[in-house]
Amino acid sequence: TPLIKLVDLEKKYISQNNAVTALSGINLDILKGDIFGIIGMSGAGKSTLVRCINFLEKPTGGTVIIGDKDLSLLNDKELRSVRQEIGMIFQQFNLLMQRNVEDNICFPLEISGMSKSEGRKRASELLELVGLSDKKKSYPSQLSGGQKQRVAIARALATNPDILLCDEATSALDPTTTRSILGLLKDINKKLGITIIIITHEMAVVEEICNQVAIIDKGRLAETGKVEEVFSKP
Ligand code: ADP
Ligand code: ADP
Repeated sequence: TPLIKLVDLEKKYISQNNAVTALSGINLDILKGDIFGIIGMSGAGKSTLVRCINFLEKPTGGTVIIGDKDLSLLNDKELRSVRQEIGMIFQQFNLLMQRNVEDNICFPLEISGMSKSEGRKRASELLELVGLSDKKKSYPSQLSGGQKQRVAIARALATNPDILLCDEATSALDPTTTRSILGLLKDINKKLGITIIIITHEMAVVEEICNQVAIIDKGRLAETGKVEEVFSKP
């Protein structure tokens, strides 16, 4: 059974005198342990899909099922607890500039009620995992783009989520750094068994790391399947 199931997902943005259908008829199964790529051009509906997967945006039709939970049936408190199972990383890293690396990673742990000393211990383990143990006391402004994304990955993994949702996570990085971040994600997938969703407009990213792919075009699912099968079609 899939870990994440998108069922007839639809999102229409309705304003005073027009409606934009950003997504429609999206049916997708993502299995535990997958590295699942979702690729599409600008305007295809990727950002909308990211926000619908964790119900930050309520779909106007269909639903999202994570594990055994139908998100459309949950109240706000239950949704917050489901969202704790989804770590996220972004194109712009979204680190807290006033906090050093260690304190950035501890931030979600503090919110979840972990003690400071336990948080520090967990941060050390995570920094080792992402290969940045020597930058514990550095501030984000002192780091390269790739290092910032490693910190963001460590922070996203802090609370031990089942799912890592990557929204254009390598789009601000050069090709070499991109490759090293994708290598790290692959490693993490293998070591932790975490399910990874990669949202991108770059074919090369999907080819490098994903086992499954879905192509979205103008809000619809154009194609889905194993990467080698989908990309080898003429
Ligand atoms: P992508 O992330 O692939 O670039 P988006 O999800 O941002 O695509 O946008 C999909 C479509 O929905 C676009 O036509 C966009 O203009 C429209 N859209 C996105 N967000 C809104 C919004 N808040 N209100 C109205 N239209 C929106
Ligand atoms: P991206 O390409 O990363 O999706 P955009 O610049 O398309 O970024 O969108 C940035 C923000 O603007 C998003 O929150 C999106 O929902 C909103 N947005 C995009 N298109 C529209 C639109 N046509 N009307 C209103 N809001 C929009």
